[in-house]
Amino acid sequence: GQDTAEDKDGKPSGKIVHLTFDDGPGEHTQHLLDILNRYGVKATFFVTHAFPMYEDRIGEEAAAGHSIGIHTYSHDFAKIYADDKAFWKDIEKMQEIVVKETGQRTNLMRFAGGSSNTDSAAYTQGIMTLLTKQAEKKGWHYFDWNVSSGDGGNDSTSESVITRITSQIQDHDESVVLCHDTKENTVNAMEYLIPWLLDNGYTLLPLTPDSETAPHAVLN
Ligand code: ZN
Repeated sequence: GQDTAEDKDGKPSGKIVHLTFDDGPGEHTQHLLDILNRYGVKATFFVTHAFPMYEDRIGEEAAAGHSIGIHTYSHDFAKIYADDKAFWKDIEKMQEIVVKETGQRTNLMRFAGGSSNTDSAAYTQGIMTLLTKQAEKKGWHYFDWNVSSGDGGNDSTSESVITRITSQIQDHDESVVLCHDTKENTVNAMEYLIPWLLDNGYTLLPLTPDSETAPHAVLN
């Protein structure tokens, strides 16, 4: 099982990897769920309203034991970072979908762009400082990442995703890996990456409210 993954010498590496998938669910999410299920691995999904016809996958994710967090309903920086009221309205709209699909609220979240993104300043100066404070007061546990698969743009390949993740996770005892289940190449990379991680003694765990928050690493 995932809690007793051992390396070739029979010793656990002691390193923990949290695979996290943003921006879905979408057309590739079912393939990802099948891969995760095949290896008995649990991940974390930061969900959006980008592809409404796939929203029932949120229920499947939860039923399979993966963690569900809210990413954003619209992912539209101009809207959500216009002011704090607009931001929390967007989050609550996504929360309603999560409740509809899973039967319960979540208190996990990942800010669009990460908690210290600078793009939001184009709409409201200092809004991330305000929103992160409000999030803590409201009881949200928000997560950034310390490893990026580099799949945020359109030029990543399955090979580049695998190379970036396997090289960066060496530097951390606990990695929070940013991926997007909306990217076909990323999902295909998991076919190779997940068995590799297990064979090399990594322990794959979903994020929970008790997980340590990884510092925000710059994307790409
Ligand atoms: Zn996103």
